[in-house]
Amino acid sequence: MDRSKLYRRFRTLLIANRGEIACRVIRTARAMGLRTVAVYSEVDRDAMHVALADEAVLLGPARARDSYLNVERLIEAARKTGAEAVHPGYGFLSENAEFAQACFDAGLVFVGPTAAMMTAMGSKSGSKALMEKAGVPLVPGYHGDAQDDATLAKAAEKVGFPILVKASAGGGGRGMRIVRSADELAPAIVSAKREAKAAFGDDRMLIEKYVDNPRHIEVQIIGDSHGNLVSLFERECTLQRRHQKVIEEAPSPTLNPAQRETVCAAARKAAGAVNYVGAGTIEFVSDGKDVFFIEMNTRLQVEHPVTEMITGIDLVEWQLRVAFGEALPLKQDEIRLSGHAIEARVYAENPAKNFMPSVGKISTWRLPADGGGLRIDAGYREGDSVSPYYDAMLAKMIAWAPTRDVAIERLNRGLDESDVRGIVTNIPFLSALITHPDVRANAIDTGFIERELPVLTQAAPAPGELELCAAVAAIIHDERQATQGDATSPWQTFGWMPVGRRQRKFAFRGGHGTEQKITLNYGSGPSTLVIGERELAFAIAPKDGGFDLTLDGVKSQVAAVIDGHELYLRTRHGRFELHWVDPFGGETEEQAGVDKIAAPLPGTVVAVLAEEGATLAKGAPILTLEVMKMEQTLRAPFAGVLTSIKCKVGDIVQEGVELAVVEPAGE
Ligand code: ADP
Ligand code: ADP
Ligand code: MG
Repeated sequence: MDRSKLYRRFRTLLIANRGEIACRVIRTARAMGLRTVAVYSEVDRDAMHVALADEAVLLGPARARDSYLNVERLIEAARKTGAEAVHPGYGFLSENAEFAQACFDAGLVFVGPTAAMMTAMGSKSGSKALMEKAGVPLVPGYHGDAQDDATLAKAAEKVGFPILVKASAGGGGRGMRIVRSADELAPAIVSAKREAKAAFGDDRMLIEKYVDNPRHIEVQIIGDSHGNLVSLFERECTLQRRHQKVIEEAPSPTLNPAQRETVCAAARKAAGAVNYVGAGTIEFVSDGKDVFFIEMNTRLQVEHPVTEMITGIDLVEWQLRVAFGEALPLKQDEIRLSGHAIEARVYAENPAKNFMPSVGKISTWRLPADGGGLRIDAGYREGDSVSPYYDAMLAKMIAWAPTRDVAIERLNRGLDESDVRGIVTNIPFLSALITHPDVRANAIDTGFIERELPVLTQAAPAPGELELCAAVAAIIHDERQATQGDATSPWQTFGWMPVGRRQRKFAFRGGHGTEQKITLNYGSGPSTLVIGERELAFAIAPKDGGFDLTLDGVKSQVAAVIDGHELYLRTRHGRFELHWVDPFGGETEEQAGVDKIAAPLPGTVVAVLAEEGATLAKGAPILTLEVMKMEQTLRAPFAGVLTSIKCKVGDIVQEGVELAVVEPAGE
């Protein structure tokens, strides 16, 4: 066929995906001067990829099959917006030959291989047959057409246990079962078939020797429509949970240069066998000595940024240039490997609860900025919601450095500087994982995470002196921010008091639930914190994302998120979660429907921390009372509007007197 029918210059690109990959593709497309069209489902109206694109089209209801998997609606969206090309991202329809064909039939350029190439490589069985012919080493196994029980049983026997029963159409680790003995085979086939039928509408199975303690090694390749094909080195993706990648790095720390060339040559041979056009990945498992082909992914992969960072190549740019019908910009011997890159996938999930996905609104989203060897590919922002309908990956953090050790350090620091709240994330787990000595030493296999899970999901240690002081500092910092701009507030200059010393007592529960007390002394003279018998000089200075805390002359950084009475802190000792037990303003928050902010005891109003008419989050400070030389801050019992403040600074108030009124939000 005339290749200009398939690949030609275009000016408007529709991205048939969502989340970080849609954002990532839009970024490069825009940089290349293209107009971008996003598509979205009803729950994704306000999603980041929609905001980034020049135009956006609603596909339908949340369920993927009604929206992101709806071929007809996608083609119609392209027609409506005048899009001339479609980038499928990864997942969804990216490896669906019928979709590639439908794009072609509608006169659109599909940014990827042809439907025929996808069909040839899309099934694991079919691709293995092709690879066998091309002389690429395979895992011993059976990938024939006959699917009756007797044939599969005989094949398993011949390969020798343990074996892997795998869905030929599989992906994302689904439809796969390890079988260790003959009597486990029949039930494993039944359940793998059931899963494959449901997930892929195809229950054909293949059988492979299960490589013990395997490593996952894969090679990035890309071909153009002029017959050029290059490999862009390999990635190691051995750290997996449930056969899904968690950490990926390039180059593989396991291979020496000779092995690197062997596996890259095998990958070029594999892709060359179908005259492949577009970006693709050839995946192998390794027993530590040899590598064996397992499958080809005919699309851009989640972990492509590590390859970009060691080669300096923008793979999406190359994909688009190939789709324009251009030749690849570089020849094989012009592609150089520089340094080491490592990526961590940030998921909304709870590793301590079997990686259960977490859904909800992202109340805090603080990730470090790009730069200094760090790259963040995100699909979410603060205030966005994570819905239960799609993959739970939120972002990827990628670090590059001249050496592997430094790249790991940079990634670790990036993770350490991240605070995401409102949903549960795997960030602390990722930190524990990449700092594990066996990961540093590359003494890993694909079962590592599962074996080490108890170590990797340990609860945070009990808060110490520094954390208690940091908790007090965080509350004061928060209250001070609430009064910013109000020059008359005594809180503007922390510790301002006309005369005398004041005290404010705090209690926190953290770690294993024991309550710890700490007292703040301030007023004329320097502020101090008292824990038991210890008294520490104390000062805070605001900083991006937190503040500097100086304790007895030692300054250190603290990041803090306050959510009602829950405090999330990062100090130099790690991450901590503390519950603030507030004897006055505090625990009454739990009483639903209490909208009266009243004086718990007779006292003096010393600070008003919010303005009438302000919209308050639950737990937001409203005013501070001094009661018997101790201060207590009264806080919003729920999210709402502060409709009135019935007192002013200096008022002496009696017990039970109403001081402010908050009306619940949404009325
Ligand atoms: P592989 O495990 O074969 O390397 P990838 O790691 O590149 O594949 O991930 C692609 C798979 O991950 C898809 O098949 C899909 O199930 C899932 N996936 C991850 N993120 C997303 C996303 N944002 N949208 C859709 N699918 C996703
Ligand atoms: P998927 O399409 O779901 O990505 P793969 O065939 O790529 O399926 O396998 C996913 C993962 O399962 C691999 O990354 C590897 O960790 C493991 N795996 C696959 N085949 C074998 C095998 N023969 N022996 C051991 N582990 C394997
Ligand atoms: Mg795979």
